[in-house]
Amino acid sequence: MELAYCRIVLKIAEQDMATIQHNVSYPFSMNQIRTAAAGDERQCAALLAILFAQEKEFLPDAEAQARGLAAIIGNPELGRIFVFESGGLIRGMVMLLFTVSTWLGKKVALLEDMIVAPEWREKGVGSALVDHAIEYAKTEDFGRITLLTDSDNQSAQRFYLSKGFSRSEMVVFRKLLDTSDLAAIKEHDADPWMCRECGWLYDPAEGDQESRVKAGTPFRLLPSDWSCPVCFAGKAFFDLLP
Ligand code: FE
Repeated sequence: MELAYCRIVLKIAEQDMATIQHNVSYPFSMNQIRTAAAGDERQCAALLAILFAQEKEFLPDAEAQARGLAAIIGNPELGRIFVFESGGLIRGMVMLLFTVSTWLGKKVALLEDMIVAPEWREKGVGSALVDHAIEYAKTEDFGRITLLTDSDNQSAQRFYLSKGFSRSEMVVFRKLLDTSDLAAIKEHDADPWMCRECGWLYDPAEGDQESRVKAGTPFRLLPSDWSCPVCFAGKAFFDLLP
């Protein structure tokens, strides 16, 4: 069931882009979005730690994330990372990874690692980042953007539908080629996570009876919309206890 991702595909349409560009105004400047450069890896890795704490299949690993980010930033033919900056700090990011569709006979992109710092949510930052990525792909003559999101993350799915993406009937399959990577994902399954807002501990051994989460459920497998039973903070507000 962990692999029951949904796949959402966008065929970029001229009409959609025109609608997006004319109807949206943000409470910040689009100039605050730029392409990530060398030196941004550490801040982007910190944002990815929040994303991977939220998603079911992943766990944060700062060193691995910085390595992956540096590979993209240092090799522009692989993709682009776009960041939203305010007060000299990166508050949100999204990336496009480049590949080719033989069906379309042209370049296509995978949209990955879309994340906004919790305190910057509900301000249109994510929306502006996705608009920026779509505009970039359109300008560079890409034919399609594909993305994955958690199958139970209804708000993310509504968001991407509102951006013109449509749900695919395709199902995602994965095979980890290094068994140590799988071991790393499961390594912390028994460890507790603490709510930054109120200090409440999620203990996998106990689960969360109030939300009908069974005992033995690792934090990473909690539903995307699960929240702290005390203060209602979402998964993004939890930290793995060392
Ligand atoms: Fe809490």
